[in-house]
Amino acid sequence: MSVLLSAQGLGVKFGGLHAVSNLNFEVQEGKIVSLIGPNGAGKSTVFNCLTGFVNLSSGTVLFKGQPFKGFSPDKIVQKGIARTFQSIRLFKTLTVEENVMSGLHIRTKSNVLSTLFNPRKSKKEEEWVREEVKRLLSFVGLEDKETIRASDLSYGEQRKLEIARALATNPAILLLDEPAAGMNHSEKNELKELIYSIRDSGTTVVIIEHDMQLIMEVSDWIIVLHYGEMLVEGLPEDIQKDPRVIESYLGEEG
Ligand code: ADP
Ligand code: MG
Repeated sequence: MSVLLSAQGLGVKFGGLHAVSNLNFEVQEGKIVSLIGPNGAGKSTVFNCLTGFVNLSSGTVLFKGQPFKGFSPDKIVQKGIARTFQSIRLFKTLTVEENVMSGLHIRTKSNVLSTLFNPRKSKKEEEWVREEVKRLLSFVGLEDKETIRASDLSYGEQRKLEIARALATNPAILLLDEPAAGMNHSEKNELKELIYSIRDSGTTVVIIEHDMQLIMEVSDWIIVLHYGEMLVEGLPEDIQKDPRVIESYLGEEG
């Protein structure tokens, strides 16, 4: 087993608020790891730290053993970390296909100059892009939706499209921020299968989610945050019966 991602002494302050404090955790390659905790616990902020959307106030993130302090979100995607957002961020007026293409962009070499000097090569690349879009859309269960405008998809479909776009960057690790939010029961079941397929295809998955049934089923490892600190981490069966977790979080839901 190898450590793909590790956070050491992670801290994020917004003014006087410690959104994340001295957080240490590791993500093993090939696993599905969940980050849970009440609203405001700092979960999305952790994702923002890992993807360059907020600056660390303290600590280090190591990806494949390398620190990437100060990297831009784009650079981090190129390194192999992709994500989705708690509030869906798609190009709403673009088609499904175009949204996936925007993710593929970092893997294609064509620019205006190379197209001018080597039209045959870019033709080949165009073909590759079309096939890759098809493959990704069918992977997430959106085949036949290529030409639909992103904003015309259902909420659950938009979440799937965001996953397809993230996968288009060919990530080593995929961070999913509340992917089941707004999904109905059957969509959640599909999502569960999709998460397994992503893991089985070789991409490590970290997931923030409130749906406890989903979390307990898919997770190999669970990290529980509380007021920006780690409350406890462990196997799903241990987390489920941990009195501290029940008190701070699970109990809250009823
Ligand atoms: P969670 O995802 O666990 O619900 P967040 O990471 O979104 O929690 O937020 C943790 C805390 O940090 C909250 O109190 C939130 O209001 C605050 N926070 C998050 N992002 C920002 C920001 N960009 N500026 C100021 N405060 C923020
Ligand atoms: Mg959040």
